[in-house]
Amino acid sequence: MLIKNQIYDALVTDYTAEGQGVAHIEGCAVFIPNAIAGERVQVRIEKAQKTWATGKITALLEKSPHRVNRECPVAKLCGGCDFWHMDYEEECRLKAERVKTCLNRIGGENLEEVPILSAPTCYGYRNKAQYPVAAKKGRAYAGFFRAGTHDVVENSRCLILPRETDAVKDAVMDYVNQYRVPVYDETAHKGLLRHIYVRRGVVSGQVLVCLVLNGEKLPQVEALIARLQKIPGFTTLVLSVNTKKGNAVLGDKFITLYGPGYIEDTLCGLQFRLSPRSFYQVNHHQAQRLYEAAIAQAGITRQDTVLDLYCGVGTITLAMASAAGRVIGVEVIPQAVEDARDNARRNHIENAEFFCGDAGQAALQLEKDGVRPDVVVVDPPRKGLNADTIEALHRMSPRRIVYVSCDPATLARDVALLKERGYELKNALAADLFPKCAHVESIVLMSQVKD
Ligand code: SAH
Repeated sequence: MLIKNQIYDALVTDYTAEGQGVAHIEGCAVFIPNAIAGERVQVRIEKAQKTWATGKITALLEKSPHRVNRECPVAKLCGGCDFWHMDYEEECRLKAERVKTCLNRIGGENLEEVPILSAPTCYGYRNKAQYPVAAKKGRAYAGFFRAGTHDVVENSRCLILPRETDAVKDAVMDYVNQYRVPVYDETAHKGLLRHIYVRRGVVSGQVLVCLVLNGEKLPQVEALIARLQKIPGFTTLVLSVNTKKGNAVLGDKFITLYGPGYIEDTLCGLQFRLSPRSFYQVNHHQAQRLYEAAIAQAGITRQDTVLDLYCGVGTITLAMASAAGRVIGVEVIPQAVEDARDNARRNHIENAEFFCGDAGQAALQLEKDGVRPDVVVVDPPRKGLNADTIEALHRMSPRRIVYVSCDPATLARDVALLKERGYELKNALAADLFPKCAHVESIVLMSQVKD
């Protein structure tokens, strides 16, 4: 076992899923934040277990050519991003490598390479931000949580966000400080303002501001709206009531104070209405490329029925509708389903239907009702598909399954399960939707094995 506080020399060989460097010292895996593969480092052990340890770099003995100066002044503190210390080439390499390793080790594949759709820019790409707020010595401020904590790191300008989004945060905090709006304190479960949530349509320029409150009433709303109206594109102000303890950001109740309560945006040539509760990919440009890849892989014809599980506001469903005979979307959040139905109407799409419910249960029900999709698209949250969904896919027996994933480990687990049920992996592609952050999106095509 390694000894806590002792300093060791180590060669960084790999990365964890969270983007930390990995080195092996005396047979023990050591996880080292801000380390780059290929680097020799001196590391002080912070936590030591039998098979693994964590450590901090005390000296760089051999620097990677991919190491760069951090452009973000709070990169080391803020838990939002992971990769300001390396160049984008290395970031994309490690992301593609991670998808490949998962598919090979967990999914039982033997892929030599997984290509990655790298992003054209690492700056200003996020169309959504959720700033937690805090107060110190009578002054309220907003920022992002320090990694692994709920300490708010203040940051005047976040490089992955558009300027308008930070401008909303500044306007809200100016109002909060002027009118002494109490900031939420999670230890005492007291105070009012918890989070500032901002979403901006990249194409429309429309800005949604949603304030998450431990309560239902905000003082001096006119003063807040007057400040927000100075921000280009400001469209709507909504309150989200969250009086519960815990980490969930949004509450279940939404109160619109200004504007329609949603914004609009254009994606894949279609118009979308986006309510605050609905999911919408944060990187517009890369999402579009991801969906284009999904459509290409689906190989849809005009006779086909397409089932889109975990469909959100119907982005992929509706983008596939014109090529298909019939498209069906399933989504668990009621507001997102309402958005999806409205989005079908907005785009004059008449061959799309949406169901609200759990993907697995809805798919089993659709199967019982005799629905036999030719192509199924799944785009689940990080935990991947549940047993019901796998079972429903097995019974429905579609020709193709297009799996869009935000977690390569659960994707690979599900690929293995689908292989046991008569499918083979035909194509795998990684996509970088989160430059500077460790998350990686991927998309695989599974095709039915013909006997
Ligand atoms: N395909 C959409 C949304 C993907 S995100 C897009 O690209 O925009 C995953 C979606 O799955 C979210 O909208 C989330 O609300 C939904 N979801 C989460 N758990 C679910 C479940 N058990 N059943 C159905 N949908 C679920």
